[in-house]
Amino acid sequence: MTEKSQSITVLRLGHRTGRDPRISTHLGLTARAFGADTFLLAGDYDSSLLSGIGDVAERFGGEFEVRHEESPLGFLRRFVGAGGVAVHLTMYGLPYHDVIPSLPHDKPLAIVLGGAKVPREFFEICQHNVAVGNQPHSEVAALAAFLECYSGGAAGATEFEGGKLEVHPTERGKDLRESVDEE
Ligand code: SAM
Repeated sequence: MTEKSQSITVLRLGHRTGRDPRISTHLGLTARAFGADTFLLAGDYDSSLLSGIGDVAERFGGEFEVRHEESPLGFLRRFVGAGGVAVHLTMYGLPYHDVIPSLPHDKPLAIVLGGAKVPREFFEICQHNVAVGNQPHSEVAALAAFLECYSGGAAGATEFEGGKLEVHPTERGKDLRESVDEE
């Protein structure tokens, strides 16, 4: 299980404003919904994407930081230097089911996802290069499968407090309610 206090950052490399808004947004939303507390977007600066993810976090609750990262390599150097564990998801890496049991749950974790082409330095600075199967597929699928496995199957069960809206699970239809302050 992921410890509640553990910090999990998702770093998305190489965002392109013209081509990637939808997939980068889905990465940010999946990061939040599956237990990360920070989403960093590297590549093109995209204020509407960052604020769109921030709006969802505000409406549905929980603590979630979203920001642009100008220097993803610099960020990772500092992160690893400060004792964090960086995991790069790539189809060329080692099988995630083999690597995940060796990953700690008591240190900050950064999960790095690529875009078009990931420069070699990222393979070197990250302590782990991990594959969710060795076939090319999607950043979003790789992140979701990784976090679901890393959390021991509890990734989608993260609790979000302080939001304006909450979904009440129902067998059919939609039950979306305004949150009631408990005092
Ligand atoms: N050739 C790329 C690679 O290194 O995995 C595929 C590019 S894919 C469009 C963009 C990103 O999705 C990759 O950088 C990686 O983070 C993620 N990805 C795609 N397939 C993956 C897989 N099988 N395992 C882990 N991550 C994957």
